[in-house]
Amino acid sequence: MPTPFDAIIIGTGQAGPSLADRLSRAGMKVAVVERGLVGGTCVNTGCTPTKTMVASAYAAHLARRAADFGLALDGPVRVDMKRVKARKDAISGASRRSVEQWLRTMPNCTLYQGSARFRSPQEVSVGTATLLTAPRIFLNVGTRPRVPAMPGLDQVDYLTNSSLMNVDFLPPHLLIVGGSYVGLEFGQMFRRFGSEVTIIEMGPRLLQREDEDVSLAIQEIVEREGIHVRLNAECISAARQGSQIAVGLTCQTGVPSAIGTHLLLAVGRTPNTGDLGLDQAGVAQDKHGYIVVDDQLCTNVPGIWALGDCNGKGAFTHTAYNDFEIIAANLLDHEPRRVSDRIQAYALYIDPPLGRAGLTDAQVRATGKPALMAKRPMTRVARAVEKGETQGFMKVVVDRDSKQILGVALLGTGGDEAVHGVLDVMYAKAPYTLLQRAMHIHPTVSELIPTLLQDLKPLGGDPGA
Ligand SMILES: Cc1cc2nc3c(=O)[nH]c(=O)nc-3n(C[C@H](O)[C@H](O)[C@H](O)COP(=O)(O)OP(=O)(O)OC[C@H]3O[C@@H](n4cnc5c(N)ncnc54)[C@H](O)[C@@H]3O)c2cc1C
Repeated sequence: MPTPFDAIIIGTGQAGPSLADRLSRAGMKVAVVERGLVGGTCVNTGCTPTKTMVASAYAAHLARRAADFGLALDGPVRVDMKRVKARKDAISGASRRSVEQWLRTMPNCTLYQGSARFRSPQEVSVGTATLLTAPRIFLNVGTRPRVPAMPGLDQVDYLTNSSLMNVDFLPPHLLIVGGSYVGLEFGQMFRRFGSEVTIIEMGPRLLQREDEDVSLAIQEIVEREGIHVRLNAECISAARQGSQIAVGLTCQTGVPSAIGTHLLLAVGRTPNTGDLGLDQAGVAQDKHGYIVVDDQLCTNVPGIWALGDCNGKGAFTHTAYNDFEIIAANLLDHEPRRVSDRIQAYALYIDPPLGRAGLTDAQVRATGKPALMAKRPMTRVARAVEKGETQGFMKVVVDRDSKQILGVALLGTGGDEAVHGVLDVMYAKAPYTLLQRAMHIHPTVSELIPTLLQDLKPLGGDPGA
């Protein structure tokens, strides 16, 4: 006989534990199932450990630049990778233990450890011995690193963001396949730790979803630190070459290749839906395996919802957490919150960071709406000059007629924080003139946003402007 619950939550990523808390506080008896480390990707192999390591890399970088700030540090900067990893493990471990403790002590909640699989639309097995049933089932199963069908990959050892978490040594030359968020963050980090780094990207530029000026500025930033960037690598293959790894870059024979000692794959994610038995419940997936949901995160099967990365509607901790809020609002608060209410926002944690919200210039142009754009280099931001961190720029695009802000990119020191001032005005649907007239604190990066908005010009390529 299955053990009955009011709700079953599969996965303890960024949405599941918070949802368990809300449901259990509403008086429901909740089962939470986790087959890996409690806390999921962000806590164990994603945001928390990477940003902890980015902080170590930033400290190494600043130490090397000590003379720029009038400091004399004797001798070269030496990075102790064992201690970098130990610091990362301590911070990530504390976060994991805190989520686990929360779930284990949560009233009305039982944590099951094992792999969950549907047996019917209301029944889930955990491993071979446990069967649970509930009228409400929430899928928060996340994603894992995608391993591409790359010729020769079976002949070489490779790393992913997960296995890299166990690295406590300095790879002499790290080859990274993938020039997007994960590849760039690890690339700059390991360069600053002291590795040679080559980033190999199939497309014609890094970060292809961003505007070209953002991609080019980021390429310059990483190349200035000595990272090799190989673009247009249309036929990537791997081969062992003595004790090293050769990554072939083109389709021709006698191919130019990049030779390194270690290989990191950073080419996207695959949803953890293949072994969930979705067919037993009749839950629809798209062709990539993401669970199909509507604007309120309901699947096609009544009583089953999907939250977080596995529904393909977001790929961030904040989107997963927002999914929890949407489900809780609809189920418990009678507030019809929807995914389409949210504004796309994220950051890239290279140094300097990129804070982004809303549309890119290219997306704005595609709408055909008349728009205005302003751009300012970080060399003209006093706080950046004072900190000696003047790489990058800030730019904003507004709708010429409604005056609403359509998109913002802050590539510069503090850009990941300062972007929220603009994002909140976008949520308020207020005109940009409100922000233009706000008095901000000096000296900050945010203080230049009103000034930036004084400088709006028609967005090039906009026929209506
Ligand atoms: C290197 C890296 C850096 C990142 N940095 C950032 C960042 O700075 N900011 C940001 O917002 N996002 C970042 N992300 C993305 C972020 O980690 C994810 O968006 C977030 O963790 C998604 O959470 P989730 O709740 O969807 O699922 P996950 O956190 O992936 O959790 C899913 C859980 O479900 C479990 N599970 C899966 N299948 C089953 C099953 N059948 N039975 C039982 N349990 C199961 C898994 O073990 C896992 O614990 C980063 C990701 C990576 C890879």
